[in-house]
Amino acid sequence: MPDDAPAFPAQQQEPPGLTAPMDPAPDHGETSYRGSGRLAGLRALITGGDSGIGRAVAIAFAREGADVAIGYLPEEQQDAEETARWVRQAGREVVLLPGDLREEQVARDTVADAVARLGGLDVLVNNAGFQMARRSSIADVTTDDLDRVLKTNLYALFWVTQAALEHLGEGGSIVNVSSIQAYQPSTSLLDYASTKAAINNFTVNLAAEVGARGIRVNAVAPGPIWTPLQPATQPPEKIEAFGADTPLGRAGQPAEVAPAFVFLASPTDAGYVSGTVLGVTGGKPVF
Ligand code: NAD
Ligand code: MG
Repeated sequence: MPDDAPAFPAQQQEPPGLTAPMDPAPDHGETSYRGSGRLAGLRALITGGDSGIGRAVAIAFAREGADVAIGYLPEEQQDAEETARWVRQAGREVVLLPGDLREEQVARDTVADAVARLGGLDVLVNNAGFQMARRSSIADVTTDDLDRVLKTNLYALFWVTQAALEHLGEGGSIVNVSSIQAYQPSTSLLDYASTKAAINNFTVNLAAEVGARGIRVNAVAPGPIWTPLQPATQPPEKIEAFGADTPLGRAGQPAEVAPAFVFLASPTDAGYVSGTVLGVTGGKPVF
């Protein structure tokens, strides 16, 4: 690639997007993540664990000694199988749970199936999410847009979390996925950004409710990360400059976000950390 070529060539996919067509291929830590038993014996459900940040978290969790169930949309089967391959290669169990979490029964069944097949649940990562960039006016946001974004990012979050809390016990934890958009919202993501601010509020409030049960609730707020969500939901010209406006001057890779999830999920490393949001933003402020 010539020096002046953009790090990310203009490209576009239909949502939800797949990993294989992405140029360059994202780094999920396949060749770099080294585990040290920090999640030994834990059982985790990661929604949206097929690709992007969720895949990097699945790989890291497995190498830290956790068994992993992943939720994803049926059309993402090929990505889910690739994630599963890495979890098995780490010597851990993997459970594949295709289903559209915008359906309440599917959301509840996803948790029930994860619990049944993992033999319990210790960590929930609420990572599934959807955005669609559009022209900058609120007038462009349709009811169908709202249904897709709010049901995926908020309704499913409530349903999955309610179901998981029937099984999480002392030492268990929940890690939600916020965004830099909760702090520095883009006008093109008006609806999505508002769901991420809501997820921050949900995180601190739920932490207050379940703390007495010994359950911790935190969130990770990523900045611009190279995942299928980006080519599937941003205009191609935005992709060429993706991440250039951060203090570090570049987009992050999923592999660079996963360690934040490992930390927050670890009952020893983060045993007294609850109700907080950890930014992994390339330097953009999250306070
Ligand atoms: P991604 O496309 O790889 O992951 C999102 C996943 O959400 C999909 O793989 C899909 O399986 C799942 N999903 C979406 N709608 C669903 C539905 N209706 N039912 C079930 N699953 C559904 O992209 P990603 O960037 O890794 O996204 C993961 C999380 O990170 C999202 O919550 C996103 O909002 C958040 N995030 C991403 C960035 C970024 O720059 N990539 C920045 C901040 C926050
Ligand atoms: Mg995906």
